[in-house]
Amino acid sequence: MHNRWLCSGHKESSSMTQTYEGGCLCGTLRYMLHGKPEWTAHCHCRSCQKATGGSFTTWMGYQKENFKITKGQLAICNTSADVERGFCDQCGTSLTYAAEERWPGQIHILAPTLDNPATAKPQAHVYVEHQLPWIKLDDGLPRREQT
Ligand SMILES: [Zn+2]
Ligand SMILES: [Zn+2]
Repeated sequence: MHNRWLCSGHKESSSMTQTYEGGCLCGTLRYMLHGKPEWTAHCHCRSCQKATGGSFTTWMGYQKENFKITKGQLAICNTSADVERGFCDQCGTSLTYAAEERWPGQIHILAPTLDNPATAKPQAHVYVEHQLPWIKLDDGLPRREQT
């Protein structure tokens, strides 16, 4: 194959940081993540249930500088005084969470909005005190009452 031959001399540099892309359901919002997340966790808290409409969801923690909106503009809702939940104002997809006092410098991204969410590697369940009784999980991951 022509392409394969062209690429055969190309060496992957280990210093090259991997990037991940994702976006909202309608495609208005697109983002890019630089490198791997600092942590990934399933959140069962009541706020995430309401904000996403899901029984629980999966967050990835990043430093803010490693998250970039590449298309569109993130709409922000202050769901509590210090909490900023980011979403697409066209289709309503929830995308981000930031709380500067509690999580300085961090932004949390909803893993299901990645183009390839299968790359996420959840490490724990948090806020399992809010876990819905009809969600049964047996993945062996640590479970925390809160964070
Ligand atoms: Zn959208
Ligand atoms: Zn939550």
